[in-house]
Amino acid sequence: MANNPKTISRDLLRWYRKSHRNLPWRHTHDPYKIWISEVMLQQTTVPTVVAYYERWIKIFPKVKTLAQAPLQKILKAWQGLGYYQRAKNLHKAAQIIATEYQGKLPATLRQLEQLPGFGPYTAGAVASIAFDLPYPIIDANIRRVAMRLLEIVGYADPSHDNKIRAFLQKIIPKKNAGTFNQALMELGALVCRNREPLCLRCPIKTHCHAYEKGTQEIIPQPKKRIIKDLNAAVGILRRNGKYFIQRRPSTGLLADLWEFPGGKIEKGEEPQEALRRELKEELDIEITSAKHLMNVRHFYTQFRVNLHVFECELRSYPELNEYRKWSSLYDLQRYPMPSGSAKIVDKLIADIM
Ligand code: SF4
Repeated sequence: MANNPKTISRDLLRWYRKSHRNLPWRHTHDPYKIWISEVMLQQTTVPTVVAYYERWIKIFPKVKTLAQAPLQKILKAWQGLGYYQRAKNLHKAAQIIATEYQGKLPATLRQLEQLPGFGPYTAGAVASIAFDLPYPIIDANIRRVAMRLLEIVGYADPSHDNKIRAFLQKIIPKKNAGTFNQALMELGALVCRNREPLCLRCPIKTHCHAYEKGTQEIIPQPKKRIIKDLNAAVGILRRNGKYFIQRRPSTGLLADLWEFPGGKIEKGEEPQEALRRELKEELDIEITSAKHLMNVRHFYTQFRVNLHVFECELRSYPELNEYRKWSSLYDLQRYPMPSGSAKIVDKLIADIM
């Protein structure tokens, strides 16, 4: 069996034109909107991205609006999408595009690659989809499809990308390169699925070595995901009807987001003990009593977090600075927060309604 470049792309494009999903970013040629959608789609599912994308474009319709917005507003609009560094890079890149390129995304791969957050995937996706330049891209869907087409045995990781890129370079058409890239991703999402690929419906099955040998179900080799459990104690501190929150450091996990104070429960520690210790260490305050309010669970990609939330009575109050604030309950909704803390706010509001 040969992977005939012309017929693979022709069959794939024909299928895509008939079968692609109707998604909001597929109705635009605006490079800014295409860029936003591509960044959101990394690490996040399509149904989740649709709502975020539409809201984002209303709040930040142009590169310049995004460039001029305060970071906290951007993080708030991103809240719940995770990997917040993506939002920060969008902001930094928008500022460069606004000042150096008059608010228009540059139209060459080399210039795009210089912008913050533009790794090979994002630069290739914007270059091909927005400017129709013939650059192949590799995301998880394309990697899986290509591994099966070429019958590459092993885990789906970037160690195969050189071989895959060389193959894609041979089959990507000179015209409609962006549509071709989107078609491969769409094929991976709808037909060449991770589990139970629908090979009989596949428009390029006659080019597929894994299908020919019947190995499509074991390529790529499934990886066992290790999900860690994390238990944390969280303190609700109230004063004159206001709630205490603090901003996380500007580097590291969930950087710059606001949260209630507290921290990880160490092995052998009770949640209240952990809370006492954390509040003393973080804020130099002592709890006189802690009443259990709720438990909140949230699933992140690499870990599951279980927050044990307590209403605290205090001997003294924390000192304030730019990273610490008292806020009314409703105003808490204006701060960008990790999803677990945002759930606590929702529950506190629901309890008084
Ligand atoms: S034939 Fe099956 S395994 Fe091969 S590309 Fe199509 S869906 Fe994927």
